[in-house]
Parts: sequence; C-alpha cells; structure tokens
Amino acid sequence: MANKIYKILLIGPQASGKGTQAETLSRKYNLPVFSTGNILRQQVAKGDDLGKQVAEIINKGQLVPDDLVNKIIAEKIAANRAQGYILDGYPRNLSQVNFLAAKDKLTHVFEIYISDKEAVRRISERRTCPKCQTVYHLKYNPPKSEGVCDKDGEALIIRADEREEVVKTRLKNYHQLTEPILEFYQEKGVYHKINGEQSILKVSEDILKIFK
Ligand SMILES: [Zn+2]
Repeated sequence: MANKIYKILLIGPQASGKGTQAETLSRKYNLPVFSTGNILRQQVAKGDDLGKQVAEIINKGQLVPDDLVNKIIAEKIAANRAQGYILDGYPRNLSQVNFLAAKDKLTHVFEIYISDKEAVRRISERRTCPKCQTVYHLKYNPPKSEGVCDKDGEALIIRADEREEVVKTRLKNYHQLTEPILEFYQEKGVYHKINGEQSILKVSEDILKIFK
C-alpha cells in the first residue's frame, strides 16, 4: 500500500504554538518544515546570487518581496513534492496562496485558533532580560525574584514589539491577511480549525485525529 503524502500548512497568530505543532508533525511523519524565516536564512547561508539578494534586503531591514519568497519556496516544494512537507508562515497573503496553488496542492490546512485576548495575554506576560536575552513568562516561567533576571540580576523589560498596543495592531493585520486565506482553503475542503487554547498535548491530539 502506498503511503499517503502529506502537504500541510499551519496558520496561527504569534504565540499560537504553531511552531511547536509543526515540530511535532515533522517528527511524527518525517516531513521537513519550511517557514519563511528558515528558508530565507538557508538561502542567505548558501551565499549564491539569490542568497546575496535576500541578505541585502534583510540587512536594510526591509520585507523580502513576494516574488523572491515565492521563487525560493518553489524550489523547496519541487524538491519535496514526492515526500511531502509542512509550511509554517507561508503563504501569508492571497498572492502567495495563488502562486502556491499553481505549483502544488496542499492536503491539510490547520488553523491553530486562539482569541486575540489570549494572544495578548500570552505575549504581554513575557519579560526579557536586556543583558542576557533570557525570556521569562510571568505565569509559566517566572523569575525567582520578581522583576529581575535569575542569571545576572538585571531588571527585566517588556520588549517594544511585545507591548500590548503593538501586539493588538499586529493581530489586526494578521486577521486582515489571513481571513481570505482561510476562506480559500475552506473552499478547497482541506481546512481544519483547531482550538489552540488547550494544552500543547491536546492540540497535537486534535491535529493527529484528522489523519486517522
Ligand atoms: Zn539576564
């Protein structure tokens, strides 16, 4: 019997835990994970013409344009068409969705759903040591004494991009870009909504159930 080939996309906001779920699926089905961040870093590390182009854009602090990201991901997809893959954070807009659809067909799209309130709660309770960059969470991983780093006693800070107002703005953008993507895959019949506000283990179980 031929094994099924899984081509999976995970969608979810920051702090939804989709990266962790991607790792779990990757181990379970022996599939590579392609996230926009890691494929761009890999391309830069290659040091070829495309890699140099990407490095220049990133070093200027600019967003890598769709056509470049598409070009890089297309190579990954072509190389893994026969065994499958997991996509994390790509496609992130409808133009990328259409590009991908013309290259290959996904078998499963999982939205790891958490409410905006929960996302804000998870992110805004993070505290970072500005000296050694250790990250704490007030509830899940608090420092031994309040407000200071365990390692060096430095006063902990809230990172600028983790402030509540910034997180809320990012979530608004996320929803605007994501809703049409979810609709697209709903119409294709491959979309599954997973409750991301459960334990990591329960989220995994809910995802794995879909494959049975
Ligand atoms: Zn520290």
